[in-house]
Amino acid sequence: MWSELNHLLSAHNYSLSDIALIQRARDVAAKAHDGQKRASGDPYINHPVAVATNLIAIKLDTPAIAAALLHDVGKNTFITSEKIRRDFGEEIAFLVEGVSNIKKIRYRETQRALEPLRNMFIATAKDARVILIQLYDRLHNMQTLSSLSPEKQKRAAKETLELYAPIADRLGMGELKGQLEDLAFPFVYPKEYRWLTKEHAMRAEKLKHYLQKLMPIVCKHLLKARVPFINAHARVKHLYSLWQKLPRYDMNFEGIYDITAVRIIVPAIEDCYAALGIIHHHWRPLPGRIKDYIALPKPNGYQSLHTTVFAPRHRMVEFQIRTPEMHEHAEFGIAAHWAYKENAKLRDWQKEGKEFFSDRVFALTPKGEVFDLPQGATPLDFAYHVHSEIGNHMTGAKINGKLVAFGQELSSGDTVEILTHHRAKPKAEWRERARTTLARRQIRAELRKLGVKMPQKRKTKTLRA
Ligand code: MN
Repeated sequence: MWSELNHLLSAHNYSLSDIALIQRARDVAAKAHDGQKRASGDPYINHPVAVATNLIAIKLDTPAIAAALLHDVGKNTFITSEKIRRDFGEEIAFLVEGVSNIKKIRYRETQRALEPLRNMFIATAKDARVILIQLYDRLHNMQTLSSLSPEKQKRAAKETLELYAPIADRLGMGELKGQLEDLAFPFVYPKEYRWLTKEHAMRAEKLKHYLQKLMPIVCKHLLKARVPFINAHARVKHLYSLWQKLPRYDMNFEGIYDITAVRIIVPAIEDCYAALGIIHHHWRPLPGRIKDYIALPKPNGYQSLHTTVFAPRHRMVEFQIRTPEMHEHAEFGIAAHWAYKENAKLRDWQKEGKEFFSDRVFALTPKGEVFDLPQGATPLDFAYHVHSEIGNHMTGAKINGKLVAFGQELSSGDTVEILTHHRAKPKAEWRERARTTLARRQIRAELRKLGVKMPQKRKTKTLRA
């Protein structure tokens, strides 16, 4: 295992001093986890090494690799974050702490809206590398899920579908998102998974034979037209994403044309359009299915040309045409920026994230449901965001167990308990103590219903919820 890691490091051009630092982190982790076992019975150290190995493959930087090796040493071992800071410096300690902070964020069945939870995850991580370590940690845990109890399996799998996969998607990491979803799928929807794998296997086999014949024809056409291409291959759609698409097609596979798609990788952008032209020259495109995600990328940065054509023997085939850079970004998303040393783009992403979340407060119910509120929000706002009935019957609030005033500002991470009584009613001054549009609107409506006179003047600014 050690030699494998070393081999990978030199293969990916890590410098000698980087390799020395990573080896030191590995040795500390190995010592810390000595004698510990995973649920599978494997030595514990296999887990951080597996996570680090995946991060080396996407060429993440040295502090992140070291942090990945050390990410679990705080768990049941004698190594404190002060020790990591002393021995490995501020940056690595910051990353390890970041990972243990986001591990505390958990998906719960009570969580109704999932976006606040995902936003809190990204805001808490502070650094994209922390998210990447945690995503690959989750990947390895999902790959080794079979040794856990059925309840734990289902919980982790649900959390993977609701929290981790959407975050991977938001970072543009399509391949990782697909892997996480497909690993979680059988644990969350076992019956549906069995049905789909059976149905899919039958069709995939036929499609494979068809594409084996089609592919040389595609290549011949491109060569003859002198359109340069690096490779053409068939890609099979991930099972879970196929499953999500089926209801929109009345569970009918016939309408889904991208169960298998032909992917053509060409050297430059102009070659993408040239290749598209050649394909349309030979096979008529299906109207409305030509997508230029090069000129108009998807929100997560995805770029490619897509088209579905009437291919030989009356089959519909989707083509996806892209450059190698677009391909790397589609598969690895934000991680590809490290590989291409696009540090400016990374800084933008982080700045955007920071600005986006700097004016948000993430507050939790006692059961752990997260609410995403604007900075300056108060317990009154929180109560009305949970439910108008909770707001309308509020008698008091506790923040982290302590009674507070209605107008007290909330901080991120606060647990807010709202006390209610069925006979309690809103008061006119609540309109000032609540800061969000939603709470103020509901308070006004309830006061009107109760016939309370309301002076028009307002002193405090309303916050966008
Ligand atoms: Mn771990």
